[in-house]
Order: sequence, then structure tokens, then C-alpha cells
Amino acid sequence: MKYKRSIVWFRNDLRIRDNETLSRAVSQSEDVIPVYCIDPRHFEQTDLGFKKTGDLRGKFLFESVQILGSQLQKKKAGLVVLKGFPEEEVPKLAKTCGAEAIFFSEEVGSEERNVETKLEKNAWAQSIATESFWQSTLYHIDDLPFPVSQLPEVFTQFRKAVEKMSEVRAEQEEITVIPFAEQAKPYVRPLDYKDFGLEKLPSLPSKVMRFDGGECSGGERLKSYFWDKNLLKTYKETRNGLLGMDYSSKFSPWLALGCLSPRTIFWEVKRYEKERKKNQSTYWLIFELIWRDYFRFIAKKHGNKIFQVEGIKNNGDSWRRDSADFQRWCEGKTGVPFVDANMRELNTTGFMSNRGRQNVASFLVNDLNIDWTWGASYFESQLIDYDVCSNWGNWMYVGGVGNDPRDNRYFNILRQAKNYDKNGDFVRFWIPELASIEGFDIHQPQELPANILKSKRIELGKTYPEAMVEMEKWM
Ligand code: FAD
Repeated sequence: MKYKRSIVWFRNDLRIRDNETLSRAVSQSEDVIPVYCIDPRHFEQTDLGFKKTGDLRGKFLFESVQILGSQLQKKKAGLVVLKGFPEEEVPKLAKTCGAEAIFFSEEVGSEERNVETKLEKNAWAQSIATESFWQSTLYHIDDLPFPVSQLPEVFTQFRKAVEKMSEVRAEQEEITVIPFAEQAKPYVRPLDYKDFGLEKLPSLPSKVMRFDGGECSGGERLKSYFWDKNLLKTYKETRNGLLGMDYSSKFSPWLALGCLSPRTIFWEVKRYEKERKKNQSTYWLIFELIWRDYFRFIAKKHGNKIFQVEGIKNNGDSWRRDSADFQRWCEGKTGVPFVDANMRELNTTGFMSNRGRQNVASFLVNDLNIDWTWGASYFESQLIDYDVCSNWGNWMYVGGVGNDPRDNRYFNILRQAKNYDKNGDFVRFWIPELASIEGFDIHQPQELPANILKSKRIELGKTYPEAMVEMEKWM
């Protein structure tokens, strides 16, 4: 079908490269209007008292949209940025500018699905066509060896089946020019960070890692991690690290907003394997991307259940809902240094290592017995790589209500600290008030010097009798 004019509604696919929605709109239309719609619902306050999109995530999103605008400009097009409910604003713009179709990428979260269903209804009511495309995963949904309704509930079964029977598609051909609809020119305006829930652009302390949003930085990170620094070669050995930029790929923030396509990463791994080295590490990066796919397909299969406290296992609800304890966990003031250091990293940078995430999540649900959905909501607010499926899927997993064949995946915090932060360097970096304590002792709260014992940190620790008793058992 050839349209005279189409809208490309960008969502979590903020890139030009390997973007099927954009490619198809360009090839099926005489001209196009690229649009991003800032949805005020994403910046509201949650019932738990923090913003649904915290400032660091808001900043990363703002930058990513801004870079999308400049990438489009290089292809002779502009980006129209709307503010309001996309289901109303996008069809309204289509009508005003005489667009015959709206192209967009399909999402799986229930809020996102609701928006697209309503948008389709509003568009069709005005005889505007809609075309949606599956993006975001490495394996296309149509290439799975089974319908999503029959997706295996155990990851290994899923992985083995797709590795054996599915192929990763080639990237989309590069788009050289985007025929931009002149009628939309008056609507192209500079972005304002205030529209992304920000009073000012957050600044980060100089010594911590920082992430810049957008397709260009995502591409640079890929180049640097694979080619310039040659870190892919040792990914499997380093991936459980805690400190710095280079122990793992850090692709997740760009993947989450679609600034980077998983297929681009996959084909770059294949090129690396040919030109440099093929080993367990190169395979493992793809293995992790299959985890990411898995959570997306699980979310598609189970719909709303991934957000419910009972999870997909339909477990009973015996969680505690203690706001004060939860608040201490959020602020990194539990009194358990390994947990606090990780939470402080999250609050300062918007990022936390996978090892850290597993530990703080286990601590919240297993030691404090606090409702896992509270933890997932806090991560949703703070993580710059927040991805609805990976976040809620991993939290369900840790909370024992998801796709883990085992009922409980308890992380012994001190044992974890011993394995992954033996000399305490990670804790020393994030909790400088403990820096004078040498070696592993930094992880052992009851051995703190008197001046620190008097500090707020340990008083808070005392309010966690269960956690402290657990800690004593481990030592
Ligand atoms: P690498 O180790 O370099 O892995 C490469 C890529 O593989 C990642 O970028 C990511 O896309 C994917 N990946 C790796 N591990 C996982 C995993 N366990 N689940 C899904 N995908 C994975 N990841 C998110 O992208 N967004 C989230 O909101 C998110 N929330 C999480 C919440 C909890 C409680 C836990 C335990 C994990 C969560 N993860 C989430 C998964 C994982 O921690 C991050 O993807 C990873 O730490 C990102 O760092 P990286 O890009 O350097 O990963």
C-alpha cells in the first residue's frame, strides 16, 4: 500500500539505523512526518511517593529524543514533538497535516498496549490507517519456533529452541533520505527538558560513570567496547564486575530506548568473531540478549500478570509493606554496606550492575520481605535502562513469582560481597564514610569503629532486626 503522507510515531525505537517502522513508512509513503509524543502520565508521581520517571532517566530520555531530532535532520527531515496523550495527539496531528497512515512499533506492556489500542481506534474513526511493527527483540516474533502462547516457561528450553530453529534477521537497509512533509515544518520546535519532568538537567559528580542518551552515543559505546578497547574478548570473565564502565557492555540504556538495535549488536558480534576472535565471551553476550528477548516474550504471553504481586506463578501475598524500611532501602541506608553501596550507585548514576541488582533485590524481598513490586517500581523510576519487560521479569524472578524453576533464589549478601568485592573497593567508593576500614572488614557492620557506630547508618541497621540476625548467622 502506498500512502501520500504518513506519520512515524517514535516510541522506544529512538534510532534511524535498523528501524523497520521508519524504513517501511519511508518506502510506503510519498512523504513522512516523524513524531515523538511526550506523555505526561510517564512523569507523574507514583503512589509510593516518587516519580514514575526519575530525573536521571528523564535526562537520558530527553537526550535520546534530542539526538533523534538531529539524526533526522541529517537525513533532511525534522522531528515534531508533541505533548499530551499520544492516542489523542498523534491522530489529531495526522488529521491536521493530511496524513493517511500512522506507523509505529508495537509494545508489550499493558499501559503501552492500551495507548496503542486507543490510538488505533481514534485513527480509524477518522479513516487514518495504522501499521505496527514488531521491533526490539533479537529474534523476530514471527520467527519463533512456537506461538507466543506456547512459549516455554523455562529460559533454557526457550534458548535452545530459538538457537536451533530460528535465525536473526539482517538489519534494515540504510535510509539515505527521509522525504519530510513540508506541512509539518511549523511544528518542529526545540525540545525543552522541563517537558520531561525535569526542573533542571541533573549533573553528575565527576568521578562517576555517565551515560549520554541517543543513537550516536550508543553506537560509540558499541565501537569502543568491541573494537577500540577489545573488551568483548573477555566479557564472560568480567561481566560480574561492579566498578567502572568496562566490566560489562553497558548497552542496556541504549537498548531500552531503542537507540541501539539488538540486531546491530548481533551482527557486530559476528563481524568481531570473523575479524578478531570467536570464544565463549562472544557467545555469552548473545546469550544475554536472548535473556532480554525471553522477558519480552514472557511479558507478551502473560500480559498484566507481570505487574501483579502474585506474578505468573499466582503465589499468595504475604509481603510486608513497611514504608520506612522501604525508604531506607531506596536511599541506601539499610546499614548493610554492600546493599547501600549499590543503591547509592543507582541513585547517583541511574545504573547498577547486574550483580548489584540481584543482591539488592534479594535483600528487599528475602531479608526484608517487602513487596517485590515496590522494588520493581523504584527501579522503574531510577534506572536509565528501565525496560518494562526486563525489569518486571527479573523482579518476578527474584521475588519467586516468575520464571524461575527454583522457588527461592536467596542471595547471601556477605558471601556475595566476599566473591565480588573481596577488598571492599566498591563499598569504599560509594560509602566514603567507611573508607578508612581496610579490606573485607568494610562489609561487616558490627565491626565498625565507634564513631561510625554512632552514625545514622547503624541506627538504621538496628531497625532491621531480621536482617542483622541473618547477617550474624552468615559470619
Ligand atoms: P551486559 O552484561 O553487557 O549484557 C548485555 C545485554 O544483555 C544487556 O545490555 C541487556 O540488554 C541484556 N541482559 C543482560 N542480562 C540480562 C537480564 N538478566 N535480563 C534481561 N536482559 C539482560 N535490564 C534492563 O535492560 N532493564 C531493566 O529495567 C532491568 N532491570 C533489572 C532488574 C533486576 C532486579 C535485575 C536482577 C536485572 C535487571 N536487568 C534489567 C537485567 C540486567 O541487570 C541488565 O540488563 C544489565 O545489568 C545491563 O548492563 P549491561 O548492558 O552492561 O549488561
